[in-house]
Amino acid sequence: MLLVDLIKQVPGVTQVNLMLVKDSPLKGEELTHALTFIGEDDCYLEVRKETGKPLRYFLFTKDTLDSEERMTSFSEYVKSSLFNEETFKTRNFAAGPCPLPSDAVKRIQAAVQEGSILEMSHRSAEFEAILNEAKTLFYQLSGLSPEEYEILFLQGGASLQFVMAPMNIKAFLAKDKIKGSYLVNGYWSQKAFEAGSQVCTCSADVMEDADFVHYVSNDTVEGIQLPPQTFPGKIVVCDASSDILLVETPKADIIYAHSQKVLGVAGVTIVAVRKALLYHSSLLPDVLNYQTYAKTNSIYNTPPIFSIFTVKEVLESLKNLSLKVETSTKGGYLRSYLGSSEFYKVTGNSLVTVCFTCPREEQLLTFLETRGIVGVKGHRSKGGLRISLYPWCSSADVAFLVSSLQQFEKF
Ligand code: PMP
Repeated sequence: MLLVDLIKQVPGVTQVNLMLVKDSPLKGEELTHALTFIGEDDCYLEVRKETGKPLRYFLFTKDTLDSEERMTSFSEYVKSSLFNEETFKTRNFAAGPCPLPSDAVKRIQAAVQEGSILEMSHRSAEFEAILNEAKTLFYQLSGLSPEEYEILFLQGGASLQFVMAPMNIKAFLAKDKIKGSYLVNGYWSQKAFEAGSQVCTCSADVMEDADFVHYVSNDTVEGIQLPPQTFPGKIVVCDASSDILLVETPKADIIYAHSQKVLGVAGVTIVAVRKALLYHSSLLPDVLNYQTYAKTNSIYNTPPIFSIFTVKEVLESLKNLSLKVETSTKGGYLRSYLGSSEFYKVTGNSLVTVCFTCPREEQLLTFLETRGIVGVKGHRSKGGLRISLYPWCSSADVAFLVSSLQQFEKF
């Protein structure tokens, strides 16, 4: 009862009902949700402002009531959660597709409502202006120079680049066979290696006689980040899909990043190619040749107009942020909390994709969901937990996440 009294002190609370889950009015999904989190003999707390819909409900184990200290800590948690608008916000930390900046979403919604963007011709001057604006913003934000690099907007995702990049290098070198060295340190670099092996001779070691080296700057499954890599005398290719613009731009000759993470909605991949590598070759079908897209300003066939438009809007939102400083502050803060905890075990080294494990992971996911924190489940191939810190998750969101993790640690 003490618990109920404590929570009743919160201004505005008119009714607090405490009961066992099995006796509660929970039904269907809510009941399943409660039972995954705790057992049927555990407790349910319903807080109402007035009669009508419950303001919020909380679940906790029965032994919370046995210890005054745990009960006070739980009631403090309930009190701090109630009437705090921040508590009711959904925070999506998914690796991708993931949320976009809210101001960009508003502009995209307005354009869809008007209908113009969905019906626009890819041969129109209007679309070309959108594409050129996206290009200019990308040059500006990445620091890549328009004299040295061509920016292409391609389809087929990052996965197509796993083969398209080696095929173009082969055409450029005009060789029948080429050798690629792959820095394999995670799921995506392994995928790139396997796909590359279908079009050239690949090794997971850095070979003296390699024609090119491929690496992934942020392996999004394990959360392993590599700083810009250079290999004098070799062509360097970098998959920067999940940390492009958030860290120093790779010094590679071919840099690619799909949308759906930092850049916009899925459907387009930005490829920055050193101009010196663009080469017409009879060894390569035009549709796979970077030069085809460079010559046609990426309008060789029908481009994904809507996706390119979202990239432009997202870049527009990003241009006012201090992306590198914010990324290292948020990532550093989260990693240092997880690193100092005895309950959580942080893995990898990434400041953008923070992977960790802990006891009772399923329960933690359910608990976080009750606080509106979603997208935390690790990649299906590896399990564990994963937090992606893309630009539109703020420092306040990370602080809220950390306080929730701290709370769970205490339960
Ligand atoms: N590279 C990295 C680093 C990724 O995170 C992903 C997907 N999340 C891919 C490549 C594959 O991208 P796509 O689905 O666009 O082929």
